[in-house]
Amino acid sequence: MPSMSEKIILCLVVVLLASFGVQADVIHYSATLEPDIANKSVKGSVIIRVRTTSNVVEFNCGNLTIDSVRENGKALQFSVNDHKVKVSLARGQGERNIQIQYHGSPRYGIRFFPDRQQVYTVFSTSQWMVCVDDPADKATLTFKLILPANLTPIANGELVSQRELPHNKRVSEWQQRTPISTYIFGFAAGPFRVVKEKHGNVELQYLATNYSEAEVRRIFRATPDMLDFFEDRAGVKYADKTYTQVLAAGGVEQEMSGFTALKESYGKQLLDNEQELWLAAHEFAHQWWGNMVTCRDWNHFWLNEGIATFIAAAYLEHRFGREVYLREIETYRANYEKVRAAGKDKPLVFPDWLNPTREDRILVYDKGAYVLHLLREEMGEANFWKGLRNFTRRHFGKSVVTNDFLVAMEEAHAKSLKPFFEKWIV
Ligand SMILES: [Zn+2]
Repeated sequence: MPSMSEKIILCLVVVLLASFGVQADVIHYSATLEPDIANKSVKGSVIIRVRTTSNVVEFNCGNLTIDSVRENGKALQFSVNDHKVKVSLARGQGERNIQIQYHGSPRYGIRFFPDRQQVYTVFSTSQWMVCVDDPADKATLTFKLILPANLTPIANGELVSQRELPHNKRVSEWQQRTPISTYIFGFAAGPFRVVKEKHGNVELQYLATNYSEAEVRRIFRATPDMLDFFEDRAGVKYADKTYTQVLAAGGVEQEMSGFTALKESYGKQLLDNEQELWLAAHEFAHQWWGNMVTCRDWNHFWLNEGIATFIAAAYLEHRFGREVYLREIETYRANYEKVRAAGKDKPLVFPDWLNPTREDRILVYDKGAYVLHLLREEMGEANFWKGLRNFTRRHFGKSVVTNDFLVAMEEAHAKSLKPFFEKWIV
């Protein structure tokens, strides 16, 4: 996620999460979505395979209108309240397949640009697909997207098929085989130029509209090196077969599983100044920290954003030298100092991330990254990176809390880091 935008959206999502009560574990989503770019609306259906012992399940549904809920073709009773659909199940146990049809005109979570023929999602998945918003409930996904045939779409996982439909439409299908949190489900589509390059086993794709192929290649010339750097620092290979960066309309800066949407003007910034790599590095880093090692709830959000922010500075150090790294760290420190001077400092682990303020977000991003720099100084080079690799390897594909990070770092350091954590983090 970006530093400052999407703040309001995040608040809303977290409010929704806080009121999510009924226990269920989603195994798999199989969704079909047809966005109408001109009308800024969606219609869709999703089969949610859920494991529950209860005869009631609840899913987040944003402001969507629920048209029907079925199991094995049979209509189920449901009610919608407070952005959730509550479904009464027939008797039974174990895995259930609940099919929900819906439509709506989401005001956030998905952005439409009719004059540019573009559409993409941003973070709040339940605004365009009924799902469970809890970041700890990871699931696999089969996703079919129906759009005008002239548009190039990208979504999570592997593109497995594309088929032409009547009226110049096309359905594309992706399989996301590794379980992921729903907030990184998403897609983007537009009349994009596609530029590809292979790096090791990963296919890198760059999508843009108003840059030439040569410019696109120049804009993303650091991406292969970033992939190597993050794999090395994570101690874990990149999880997908492809990684895509999209330069999209509007002011977007959003990681999703397997791809990132970036604002178009960022391309120009990178053409003008090679050192503007922070944003691309931050979003790419989320493919490990955030997407694969995910905060279990938003109170531990600093593990997603603090690490991605810090590691982006570490990438700048790797590419441009120590001075550039220290300049970046100094920016984080100064941003944090302003919050502290205003009396708004808090531990990085929040008691509740219900209505985060602008200052709260600076803490999670900038203080988080600054504290990781201090921890690196405290532990020394070898121990710090060994600890980060321990943490990332051990929890790859899982959800974490701050104590998991402490344990991994202490193991690498072979002595207690509790005083440090108590001073800065918890
Ligand atoms: Zn982020």
